[in-house]
Amino acid sequence: MRTVYVNGEYLPETEASISIFDRGFLMADGVYEVTSVLDGKLIDFDGHAVRLSRSLNELEMNNPISKADLLEVHRELVRLNEIEEGLIYLQITRGSDGDRDFAFPDPETTVPTIVLFTQNKPGLADSPAAKRGAKIISIDDIRWGRRDIKTVQLLYPSMGKMMAKKAGCDDAWMVEDGFVTEGTSNNAYIVKGNKIITRALSNDILHGITRAAVLRFAREAQMEVEERNFTIDEAKQADEAFTTSASAFVMPVVEIDGVALGDGAPGRVAPRLREIYLDEMRKAAI
Ligand code: PMP
Repeated sequence: MRTVYVNGEYLPETEASISIFDRGFLMADGVYEVTSVLDGKLIDFDGHAVRLSRSLNELEMNNPISKADLLEVHRELVRLNEIEEGLIYLQITRGSDGDRDFAFPDPETTVPTIVLFTQNKPGLADSPAAKRGAKIISIDDIRWGRRDIKTVQLLYPSMGKMMAKKAGCDDAWMVEDGFVTEGTSNNAYIVKGNKIITRALSNDILHGITRAAVLRFAREAQMEVEERNFTIDEAKQADEAFTTSASAFVMPVVEIDGVALGDGAPGRVAPRLREIYLDEMRKAAI
């Protein structure tokens, strides 16, 4: 049984609880982070901690935990649950003031709820899916306008994942005003020659922690990076495509809406970026 962390306590998962009035539960009034673990160490903890602060700030929510303590909790959960490869899920909500109201409760008297748990994923880095590549469909992006805040409002991305599954595919890319925004739980890229094209940062997409690292490594490896919008039609004609996320790293995309990219197998650039990313991030893990 897992040991989880709730509001300052380490508990067996069956003994952990939060209020039915918690605003995370009633209103999706909460934010989250997912940090991967390789070799028993945290990948890019710093990036996730910085984005967490930003998400909380944007929602005028107090941060209930210091960065040093947050690191300690992550490490303790890795230790207690003996995680070699896996994920640490963290969620902070605006808490509960014992009732339901649209107005935010007084932050002086209502403390945020903090929950962390581990997901053991042996073989996370050596994934067969990454060797095969992902098949994706395109769907309309009907999410709200502040996708840069990592909120727990994941119903539409979850529905998008189900639409993909029903179509016999792995994931979906979302399209707004004719241009790809991002994947249901990842950032989206296409490759043309030596050039990597991905949508620029704005409120329209999540500012991926993996995106930042991968673009840095790509530039260091003398690849050209163009941050601009692209359409599904352009993607279908690209040499390669891929996604990035903290839980799947760099994932090649081999098919878009039934159209195979290149020869329908992972190309040259995405697998290379995956390798660089994993090597470099393992070295920097804490
Ligand atoms: N976009 C969305 C919508 C996501 O949910 C995620 C993963 N949570 C990402 C992008 C990738 O972000 P990261 O690299 O920080 O995991």
